[in-house]
Amino acid sequence: MSEWISRALQFSDRIAIRDRAGEYRYDELVEASARVAGFLLKGRRSLGGARVAFQMPSGWEYVVTQWGIWRAGGVAVPISGSATEREKAFLLEETGAGLFLSKEGADTGIPGVEVASFEGLLAGECQALPQMSAEDPAMMLFTSGTTSRPKGVVTTHGAMAAQIDALREAWEWSAEDRIPLFLPLHHVHGIVNILSCALASGARVEAFPRFEMKAVLDRVGAGAFTVFMAVPTIYAMLLDRLEAGEDPAAVAGFRDLRLMVSGSAALPASLHERWRRLTGQVLLERYGMTETGMILSHELRGERRCGSVGVPLPGVEVRLVSETGESVEGERDPGEVQVRGPAVFRGYWNRPEATAEAFDGDWFRTGDLAVREDGQYRILGRLSVDIIKSGGYKLSALEIEAVFLEHPAVQECAVVGLPDEKWGETVAMVVVGSGLVPLPGLESLRDWASDKLSDYKQPRQWLEVEALPRNAMGKVAKREVAALFGV
Ligand code: ATP
Ligand code: MG
Repeated sequence: MSEWISRALQFSDRIAIRDRAGEYRYDELVEASARVAGFLLKGRRSLGGARVAFQMPSGWEYVVTQWGIWRAGGVAVPISGSATEREKAFLLEETGAGLFLSKEGADTGIPGVEVASFEGLLAGECQALPQMSAEDPAMMLFTSGTTSRPKGVVTTHGAMAAQIDALREAWEWSAEDRIPLFLPLHHVHGIVNILSCALASGARVEAFPRFEMKAVLDRVGAGAFTVFMAVPTIYAMLLDRLEAGEDPAAVAGFRDLRLMVSGSAALPASLHERWRRLTGQVLLERYGMTETGMILSHELRGERRCGSVGVPLPGVEVRLVSETGESVEGERDPGEVQVRGPAVFRGYWNRPEATAEAFDGDWFRTGDLAVREDGQYRILGRLSVDIIKSGGYKLSALEIEAVFLEHPAVQECAVVGLPDEKWGETVAMVVVGSGLVPLPGLESLRDWASDKLSDYKQPRQWLEVEALPRNAMGKVAKREVAALFGV
């Protein structure tokens, strides 16, 4: 969108990106993106909303390509660097992208899909921008596919700007901020919360090809950052390393940051507490999704209550709706989180039925259940996989997991409901042992939890596993967990 470019030009000679190859100023990104647009347009006036798929290294190549696609009036479809050939083929087919851009200009093997390399893109002639409006589609991102096949989410320039502005205001982004980027660039966490918020603020992004523990810790220890954002599994990995006392400089570096954020999956209380103890930092937790951007967040200067995800972000309206379709007004009564506002997407790509099911008028149904406690929201889990219906009760898998995570023998665990003729569903759990003490049997685990969990919430079956099945964002694939029990 032209507003993007003019914003970036305001910060012209500041460093926008540092990656493995060097440092790039804002004006360099703008100039290079004009070349990319020139290449894509080839004399046409606009791509008119055509989807352009791309797979670029995290850093300058990614930004220049994305901006170039926007300047040419295209819809950016970023593909994960770790996507398999099969996943790539699925995405190209699903989005109908006629162009695939990658660093080396790799062939897709798919007839009718034109390819280009990054070098080829930069050889384009600079082009004037087509006028883009807030209503025009900017990006197509795919949901993580936790509950079903990933769905294409089309986000307009206006919705993206609303998502970015909400976070910039709430978390007080400024041109002085510096942030590492090691999350994949095909989900909102990396693209919107980190990269786009930083670049809309004149801040500096330091891109890593992936989460490289030592490289990231060295830079934290060198005082390179002011803000840090990651998913709970990364905080868990960091704690395992830092608690061993291996890297005091990095611990000191974390201590000095102005903000540390966790999200994309529930943050276990134990991680929240261990992180606070080690670094003095109270992690700010936020909740959001591909379709809406961020929805709820702890307040920057308010209480960061462990287990809650805070309050609605600026410009985001939230309501909880009961199973009978009524708005839940009282505290502590659960309801589905529904969202309205300029940041919300319009519909899934090529999935009119899924779109129709996802909206109640202009309210988007997130499919997540939550309660409000003292005005703060607490997420109970996904209605489809985390809310277990057993003997007339509705149980939150997240709540049961939180209890067992406190057991010294448990490193990680995941709870699912298994179909049961008598109860509807019964509770089953997989556990990754901590190795600190041996895992006891199911009976002793249940005894241990008996004063924390009512009997009907207790697991009836359990399995020990080496690791939980997780996707690129660290989300536990609950359907795969259920499959371990033969479901
Ligand atoms: P699909 O929609 O394809 O099943 P997905 O919902 O996992 O996949 P995303 O849009 O990437 O795809 O993830 C959004 C979901 O992540 C939310 O609906 C919510 O269940 C979960 N989530 C995000 N942040 C948090 C958080 N802080 N606490 C708990 N859950 C979270
Ligand atoms: Mg979802």
